Amino acid sequence: METSCIFCQIIRGEKPAEIVYRDESMIAFKDIHPHAPVHLLIVPKKHIRSVNDLADEDKGIISEMIFRAKALAGETAISRSGYKILFNVERGGGQVIFHLHMHLIGGW
Ligand code: 5GP
Ligand code: ZN
Repeated sequence: METSCIFCQIIRGEKPAEIVYRDESMIAFKDIHPHAPVHLLIVPKKHIRSVNDLADEDKGIISEMIFRAKALAGETAISRSGYKILFNVERGGGQVIFHLHMHLIGGW
């Protein structure tokens, strides 16, 4: 947990967000500036800076995040129409929040 990290603040309940899913290892909430009708962020509770910083011990959480994206796509009825799941990695890859997160984008 990092005090200055916006996503750690959301995880701790110190900053509001429209949370759609939460369990012991991750949280999912609506992106504040959605790029599509459905734009969710799936975020591990563990503060990991980016994909570059993943360790062997994080294999489980990445797998859980992808399965959670699949479930949330079903719940938001975008499974059939299709969606993107993506990670932006570091500044050149478009990452602006340096707490690992997966975008689930769809509903066009
Ligand atoms: P990145 O470019 O780092 O992959 O994406 C960060 C995403 O977080 C952006 O799409 C941005 O709109 C979203 N975001 C940034 N700050 C907040 C916030 O305080 N609350 C929520 N819900 N989303 C945020
Ligand atoms: Zn964080």
